[in-house]
Parts: sequence; C-alpha cells; structure tokens
Amino acid sequence: MDQDIEKALEFFALYEKLASATQIVNQKFDVAMIEDVLGKISAMHRLAKGVTRFYRNPAEEQRGGGETMISYDLGIPCVPVHSVRFVTRLMSITTMTVYMSPDEEPLTEDEFFRVDLTMRTAMAFISRNRLQVIAEELAFYDDMGFRNVRSYFNYMMWRGQPGGLDGMSAIIYNFRRFSLVNEEFGRDVGDLVMHKHYEYIEGLITQNGIICRLGGDTFVLICENKVLKRVIDYLTEGAVPINSEGDTVNISCYAGVFNIPDGYAINTPNDIMGNIMAAFQVAKIGGQGHIIYYNDSLIADRERAKRVQQMFPEALRKQEFHVFYQPKVNTVTGEICGGEALCRWFRGGKIVPPMDFIPVLEETSDICKLDFYMLDKVCSDIRRWLDEGRRVVRISVNLSRRHMLNEHLLENIMEIIERHNVPHKYIEIELTETTTDVEFRDLQRVVCGLQAQNIYTSVDDFGMGYSSLNLIRVIPWNVLKVDRTFLPLDDEESSSIRSIMFRHVVAMTKEMGLECIVEGVETPAQLKTLKDNHCEQAQGFLFDRPLPVEEFEKRLDMQRYSIDI
Ligand code: C2E
Ligand code: MG
Ligand code: MG
Repeated sequence: MDQDIEKALEFFALYEKLASATQIVNQKFDVAMIEDVLGKISAMHRLAKGVTRFYRNPAEEQRGGGETMISYDLGIPCVPVHSVRFVTRLMSITTMTVYMSPDEEPLTEDEFFRVDLTMRTAMAFISRNRLQVIAEELAFYDDMGFRNVRSYFNYMMWRGQPGGLDGMSAIIYNFRRFSLVNEEFGRDVGDLVMHKHYEYIEGLITQNGIICRLGGDTFVLICENKVLKRVIDYLTEGAVPINSEGDTVNISCYAGVFNIPDGYAINTPNDIMGNIMAAFQVAKIGGQGHIIYYNDSLIADRERAKRVQQMFPEALRKQEFHVFYQPKVNTVTGEICGGEALCRWFRGGKIVPPMDFIPVLEETSDICKLDFYMLDKVCSDIRRWLDEGRRVVRISVNLSRRHMLNEHLLENIMEIIERHNVPHKYIEIELTETTTDVEFRDLQRVVCGLQAQNIYTSVDDFGMGYSSLNLIRVIPWNVLKVDRTFLPLDDEESSSIRSIMFRHVVAMTKEMGLECIVEGVETPAQLKTLKDNHCEQAQGFLFDRPLPVEEFEKRLDMQRYSIDI
C-alpha cells in the first residue's frame, strides 16, 4: 500500500480515538490516553514539542499569566511552526503551538492539515476540561477555598446507596469561642487557623472522607470509623500552628457525631444532617459535654424539650408554677435566717421538678420570664407577710445566666420589687458563675448595680463548675453559697482533699467579709462540720425540703430548729 495512505489511515485511527474522547461529557476525562494519542500524532509528524496555554480571560493572556500545559516535548532545540488560538464564549482562551527541529524538513500540506486538525480538536477538549474544573471550583468550593455544602450533598449522592457509608461516621462541628482567636490574633490569623485546621482534618480523613464548610466556622465531615478517634481528639483539643516559630493556638469544638449504621440508606441528603444537627444542638446547649453522639434517646429528649417549650406560655398564664421556699438556718441559734425560692410546676396533678424544665427553658429566654414571675410571687408573699405582721426573713431568688444579655435587667428587677413596695433588704439574688469573659463583665455590672440598691447578691453553687477565684475577688458579692459537692461526707477524714478545701473556702469567705452558707446539709455530722468551721448558715434536707408557702409560713412562726448534735 502507498506509504502516504498507510500514514493517513494510521492518523485517522488515532484521530478517531482523540475525537471520541472529547465527546465524553459526564465522566472523568482520560487525560493519559489523550496525551498518548497526541504524542503518537506528534511523533508521526516529526514534531519536537507541543505547548498549550490556558487563560481564564483576555487580561490574563495579556499579562502573560495563565496555565501552561506541555503535552509533548522531545527536549531538543526547536522553533515554532504552527499556532492555533481558541476563544470560548465565556472569553477563556486556549492557545497551542507546535515546534519542530530546524533540521527537519518542513511539514507537507497534508501533514499541516492533519496537525492543524489535531490541534483544534485537542484544544476543544482542553478548554472544556479547564472550564469544567473552573465550574467545579465555583460550584463546590467557597470563597475561602473550602469545599462547600454542595460538595457534601454531591458526595452523599454518590455514596448514599445502602452500604455506601458502612463503617463511616458523620460529624458537624463548630469552633468554640473562635471570636476570641480573631480578637486576640486578628482576622488573618483566624483565617489561617481555620485553613490549617481544615487541612489537618483533610489529611486524617483521606480520600474516602470529605470535609466541607457550611458557613462561618461550622464544618461537616464524613470519615471512616478507623480514624474517628483521631478526628474527635483533634476536635476536642487541637493545637493549630500559626507561624514557623512553632506557636500554636488551641482549638476545641462543639460537635454532633453520628455513627452511620451498616446498610444505612439515605432518602434525602438531609437524613444524616438532621441527626448530626440534633446532637450538635445538644452540644451547644451545654451541660452534657462538647462532643455529643447521636442516639435515639437524644431525639426523645429533644422532643420532650420541645413539648416543654410549647407548653410553657400557657402554663405561665395559668399560673401552674408555684414558689416553694426552703429555709436557711442559723447553725448557732437554730433560727430561720432566710429562705430560697425554688420553682415547682404543677402539671396534671403532678409536681414537675425544676431539673425537668429549667434547663430546657434556659435554652431560650423563656427562663427569664419564669424568673421574673418567681420574683413577682416572692415579692407579693413578702408584702403579705409584712402586712400580716409576721416575722419576715430575706428570700433569695435564682436568676438564670440568660439574664446577662438583658441590658435592662436591673431596672426590670427594681420595677418588680418597687411595685410590691418590698424593702430591699428582704431580697437576695442568686447568680451562678459564668464561663466567658463577656458574661463576666455583665455579671460584674449587674452585681454592682444591685449592690447600689442594697439588694443582696449571692454566688450560687460555688465550687460546682469551674469556679474561678477571680469571680469572688473582682465582684462584690454579699453571700457565697458553697455547693454540696464541697461538703465532706459523714465519715470523711479531715485530711481528705474535700475536707481541706471546705475548711479553707469557709475561712476565706468569712475573712473576706462575705456571708457563707452551705447547701445540701443532710446529716447531723455535716451540720457539726459546719459548726466546727464556724459556718453560720445552712440549707438542706436536715432541716427542711423546699416547702409550699403555707408550710414555710408555719416555719417562720416556729421558734427554732433543733440544732443539738
Ligand atoms: P439551686 O439554686 O442550687 O437550689 C438548691 C437545690 O438543692 C434545690 O433543688 C434544692 O431542693 C436542693 N437541695 C436543698 N437541700 C438539699 C439537700 O440537703 N440535699 C439535696 N440532695 N438537695 C438539696 P431544686 O429545687 O430541684 O432546684 C434545682 C435547681 O434548679 C436549683 O439549684 C436552681 O439552679 C434551679 N432553679 C430552681 N428554681 C429556679 C428558678 O425559679 N429560676 C431559676 N433560674 N432556676 C431555678
Ligand atoms: Mg439557688
Ligand atoms: Mg445552689
């Protein structure tokens, strides 16, 4: 057969392969195959080199930017022999230039035609490939270069058939107090920390997993269970480097985790999202740890919580909440020296204890309504006692930390007290310690304001959380309520850590000029411990449980409790 025809047939066989590759739309392009074909065609036509450049826009071409792709290069001296330029409707530009050694015979007309045809076909493919990458970047990455929620749903679409997610877990997480990192180190470092954190997790979860940013500092990830512990450890406390000197920022997160059961099939991509979100909400509400694993009882708990929140407005209107009073007793004289107002919910003939509804109401500002309602009832009782000529003692009312967001808290409290015309000395406000600096400043402001009105303030549950001595150094409290976890047990050695701490906390409180009261006194031996340490006030089941108002009134009339031990 004629050599030219043979060469032409060989060319068209290769060309067909190239052309067919460019028709594939919804699959990964086989770049290696295309490079192989281009290499063979180049060799056939005595070309020394082929260079393709891709520019996202004309400005990039003018600046000489863009991406260079060399698909073929023999590495010998050569000169350009033909160039083609291709502009898409989106104004991206692809150029291709082929080179020959100056020693080679120039291309024949037939050869030129085939080289030109190949170049145009390859370029159509290359521009489409690059545009697809750009489109993917725009669709699946956000402006900070993190994978976005579309990536997550896309991943779910590919993996979501039964069994596709076996042995994997889903996590949604959010940095705790990230605003402090931004405040302390600046936004740039904040961004850097976020990137480093993301990269580290990307490394841990490998190709099989995925991590995406949902927005702000909230991320969602899927990983294999074999790396789950390492991921959780990193989310619990991860040291993120911020410079080359080895300085790090410690990052901890709130996270909701779902261990995906084997055979799990998702109906909508939101299925897993719903579960991790439910766990995440619980993590953010606090009280149960920062990393919460989804389980069925969690959903039951959430539903119960939702019911309480739904019932609350009506229950408040119908006055289903009652004030119970627990006496505070002077350990020297046995007299009632005060009382704490504690809330009880009368619902369907039963009394619901505070732990079943207070934490739920604390998730929203409902708790503030309840606290004001309680203060109002207490003031009304005190007014009545005064009017009836009874002996009246100071009553403490619990205020949730939620109130700290209320700029008008002080006025709101005073308005209620004034409305009932209650002398300020009969009211005490109990507040618990706070965890953030911001709240700390608010707490300070509120306590000082109450102080200026001669209203007592007490630190409730001192010693239960992560109490800071700063809390009592900086804020001018009147009373410190020592939590019962500090109170030594009946047969506890005086050398136990608890006994030592108890002794010193009581002594310190007194020396600082604060009143000291111990909560949860249940036994005569505990009362003796208080007396031995000269702690003059006690509250606990040893004397009385929280009582309905009529019962409490009887106690007020009673002379004293027996404190002989
Ligand atoms: P708290 O303010 O520390 O109240 C003391 C709790 O200890 C009360 O629980 C009381 O019944 C219990 N207690 C008293 N003496 C003893 C004892 O000897 N042994 C034991 N084991 N417990 C004792 P209660 O009434 O169930 O209230 C629990 C918590 O709910 C309160 O802790 C307070 O934080 C919150 N709470 C109750 N009422 C209100 C309210 O009106 N507003 C707000 N914000 N919180 C409230
Ligand atoms: Mg209290
Ligand atoms: Mg307490």
